[in-house]
Amino acid sequence: MIVPDPRRKWLTAAVPVLLMLVLAPVALKRLGRLSETPPTTQASVPLPSLAPAGATAASPDETPHINAARAMKYVKEVVSFGPRPIGSDAHKKLETYLLAHLKGVTIEHDDFTASTPQGNFPIHNIIAKFPGTKPGAVVIATHYDTLMRVKGFVGANDGGSGTGLLLELANQLQGTERSGYSVWLVWLDGEEAVRQWSATDSLYGSRHLAERWQKDGTINQLKAFLLADMIGDADLNIDHDQNSTPWLEDLVFQAASKLGYQSHFFARGLAIEDDHIPFAKAGVPVADLIDFDYGYNNVFWHTAQDTLDKLSPKSLEITGDVLLETVRLLDQK
Ligand SMILES: [Zn+2]
Repeated sequence: MIVPDPRRKWLTAAVPVLLMLVLAPVALKRLGRLSETPPTTQASVPLPSLAPAGATAASPDETPHINAARAMKYVKEVVSFGPRPIGSDAHKKLETYLLAHLKGVTIEHDDFTASTPQGNFPIHNIIAKFPGTKPGAVVIATHYDTLMRVKGFVGANDGGSGTGLLLELANQLQGTERSGYSVWLVWLDGEEAVRQWSATDSLYGSRHLAERWQKDGTINQLKAFLLADMIGDADLNIDHDQNSTPWLEDLVFQAASKLGYQSHFFARGLAIEDDHIPFAKAGVPVADLIDFDYGYNNVFWHTAQDTLDKLSPKSLEITGDVLLETVRLLDQK
């Protein structure tokens, strides 16, 4: 993914800082988020939670809880294949690994050849479908390819974390039929630019899948598109993406608050270009869960230092539980 304009990133990040000076002692973590809310709700600063107590409370056994150690084990196994850019042997091995894990699940394949500045590459989006009783589907997506142009780039966080987390979500969803919407887990391919990020050199898999689902009408079934990217950082700060759908971002924050994880969410506002964009353009409500502050000043991003030692199972757990809780809240809508 990319932030379109570094200066815009600086500006959007700076706004909360300026407000902070004015509004102190409002809690820092809340500020980025509250600066986005309408004046009527600003009056109630500081809000303890967006979720009214009791209104959406579930019994403890309904509260989602993924197996964080197992999710981390998957991330390690994914990373152990080494760099996994499109067209590589390691990429093929990872595809086989994913499909082996998903044995017994209904799989849809979206395979095509992408024309890139470096030539043609095979792209394989993998969609795992978990049926529900309610008409419509919620997508939880990530990308499993890794950056091509950085030597030794294994993408533990960028590519690895989301891929491993979705495998654990598959474990959680497998077995019994859901009483809500169907959930489709999507491992998108070809997210990374081959040469340099542009509208045509990036998001190969998501652009193709969104177009395909528009053509065949599948897009109309989608209630929400939730994306997880770079969510393994031990110092987890999920950004408040300004290219995501506001009501769905609110729902994510409500889920995070309910689970007590709100301090990891939305301290900073940022406009992110990622795999959610083609679906947003197609009219689907989208939310990108991404921590684009990976090391001081995002220093590990797209470098050979994006390695397992920077990650924490707790961050996978926070993101996984919040995603599942968001789906549960969507079911109730
Ligand atoms: Zn990347």
